[in-house]
Amino acid sequence: MLKDSFGRIHDYLRISLTDKCNLRCVYCHPTNALHGHHDYAKNMSAEEIEKIVSVFVGEGVNKIRFTGGEPLIRKDTKEIIERLSNYPVKLTITTNGVFVHDFIDTFKTADLKSVNVSLDSLNKEKNSTINQRDEFERVKRNIDLLLENDFHVKVNVVVMNGINSDEVNDFIEWTKDFPLHIRFIEFMPFPGNKWDHEKVFTHQQIIKTVSEKYPVEKLSDDAHDTAKKYFVPNHKGTFAVISTMSEPFCSGCNRMRITTDGKMRNCLFSKTETDLLTALRAGNDIVPLIRECLYGKHYMLGGNHDEHWGEEETASHRRSMLGIGG
Ligand code: SAM
Repeated sequence: MLKDSFGRIHDYLRISLTDKCNLRCVYCHPTNALHGHHDYAKNMSAEEIEKIVSVFVGEGVNKIRFTGGEPLIRKDTKEIIERLSNYPVKLTITTNGVFVHDFIDTFKTADLKSVNVSLDSLNKEKNSTINQRDEFERVKRNIDLLLENDFHVKVNVVVMNGINSDEVNDFIEWTKDFPLHIRFIEFMPFPGNKWDHEKVFTHQQIIKTVSEKYPVEKLSDDAHDTAKKYFVPNHKGTFAVISTMSEPFCSGCNRMRITTDGKMRNCLFSKTETDLLTALRAGNDIVPLIRECLYGKHYMLGGNHDEHWGEEETASHRRSMLGIGG
């Protein structure tokens, strides 16, 4: 069992399958070109991912999320999903949804039942402005396809003040007739994403906005939930807020991350990382490295909780969201 120095059990691993993406979301894609590991030999192969996962599973991991970059653009993603479906873990994925139609059968065979799809606006033009690509209709169709095939579908919406904050209730209206689970995410700072405090639309503002139009009731949250969950009576779906910026939820954290080049990060906002892939390739036991990395985890936000957090635009110790895997 993996525990950090605060006694928190860590049994959830998020694996970045690639740091490339077919979209250019303004809040995610770095404006500079400094990110990226374009030397494919530096990245984990399908076989190496399986080896690393088998070690984590041996240490008690029981949930894995595929992320990126965009996990569905990697050529061997189907093979990776199939390989990991042989382990006693719950598989999940976060995707921009563009290629979901090609993966429905793979997800079903692998028993991957829960899919998070990112969609930041229900307005085609605005969505294209945020994504800097025109994929709105395909993503919408693929969300319908997932629902038709009985997947548990969460829709991730990064809410930015003055950009898509006026659409909060449009997303809520969508849950009236569809069993969708909307997850409003507060805008977070990463190098090159032009974050500032003013652009954060907080948990409190979201609840106020929804409450002005609908009756809102609280759902109970699980110990490890990053999202605060709610529902509107008589709606088929639910909604939740991921309040990283205004009300961090680190106390119950059970997550670890592996970047596509095989570095372990003990927090999304960590300033350090541990190279598991080089050790694995050298034939070394990676268990001590995993334990040491986890033991160094800060209690909150990777130790970034002073008032200047987010202002380190060019800090080299931090990676963009694409480079880490969201
Ligand atoms: N390409 C996939 C996708 O679009 O969902 C997976 C990777 S993406 C980095 C994972 C999640 O991180 C997405 O839901 C995205 O909206 C979210 N995200 C990216 N940058 C963010 C930021 N600056 N603040 C909050 N959420 C962010």
